[in-house]
Amino acid sequence: MNAHLLDRLDALPRERLALLPTPLTPAAQLGAAIGLPGLWIKHDELIGFGFGGNKVRGLELLLADARAQGADVLVTGAGAQSNHVRATAAAAAFAGMDTHAVYWGEPPAAVEGNLLLTRMLGATTTFTHSNDRSQLDGAITAVAADLRQAGRRPYSIPRGGACALGVLGHALAARELLAQCRALGLFPTRVLMAVGSGGTLAGWLLGSAAQGAPWQVEGVTVSRPADEARARVLELATQAAALLGQAPMVHAQHVRVHDGFIGPGYGIPSPQGQAAIALAARQQAVFFDPTYTGKAFAGLRAQCADPTWAQAGAVVFIHSGGEPALFTGQGQGLAT
Ligand SMILES: *Cc1c(COP(=O)(O)O)cnc(C)c1O
Repeated sequence: MNAHLLDRLDALPRERLALLPTPLTPAAQLGAAIGLPGLWIKHDELIGFGFGGNKVRGLELLLADARAQGADVLVTGAGAQSNHVRATAAAAAFAGMDTHAVYWGEPPAAVEGNLLLTRMLGATTTFTHSNDRSQLDGAITAVAADLRQAGRRPYSIPRGGACALGVLGHALAARELLAQCRALGLFPTRVLMAVGSGGTLAGWLLGSAAQGAPWQVEGVTVSRPADEARARVLELATQAAALLGQAPMVHAQHVRVHDGFIGPGYGIPSPQGQAAIALAARQQAVFFDPTYTGKAFAGLRAQCADPTWAQAGAVVFIHSGGEPALFTGQGQGLAT
């Protein structure tokens, strides 16, 4: 019955940015290298818009909402190497809007990777000069208020696009994957992805629950402690369901988030993550990123040390993007 929910969702105003469906490919060589021959990769890094990545899915709905509200400038924020900010700036450029990006910390010495792309896309960038990430949402609100005062029509997007409307974009991804799997006769037991702000996992959980998908959705946290991530994901999935007038569909026992792969910190490469990136490049010619997918894949690799995993059948790893970070200091040491 909840499949209707996804049809309703599909009918929500959406700006078509992505080229969908993103490819779903077997990754047998990489899988064999980690003891998981049934590994498949869903390539959201190849989403076909603005250097790609999962954030484009949420932005399709957010941009449509911004347009409906008559916005002329998108305001968002994160760290200087944010994929979310870059994808938002791409969406704004596409729609003929401006972007104001608020970054925590100090301006970096080098304008490279995502910061370079964000500037190329025409975004105005400011820095909070504080490393307290929790102050960022307040800074976004303050910038939006200043812009409004100056006669502009700002539309604010929280960090990571992690809000109810953005989450719904990721719920549609679960439907997309199920259709692909049906066409292939593929029955994945698990779908695994990186968790940052939590919106992506929340959407995948909601979309999977709504259609009774056969797989378990799991996340590997790359930013917050797993408990905090689980609570956020649950809250976001609940808010997103409420936006569609639905009672909660995702419950605490569904929210699986693995810890132990953040390494030295969010956005700081970890040895396990860098090893995963090197392995995927050599074995499968797939480029993971140091902040999200490399660390998440390291989490999957560690789970595969458990021999029951080899019998897991098909497992889908979501490649959520992030490669621009390879062309920054974070990519150093990857070439041998
Ligand atoms: C933002 C991001 C994620 C995590 O998505 P959240 O919705 O923030 O949890 C994963 N991978 C990449 C490349 C990202 O940019």
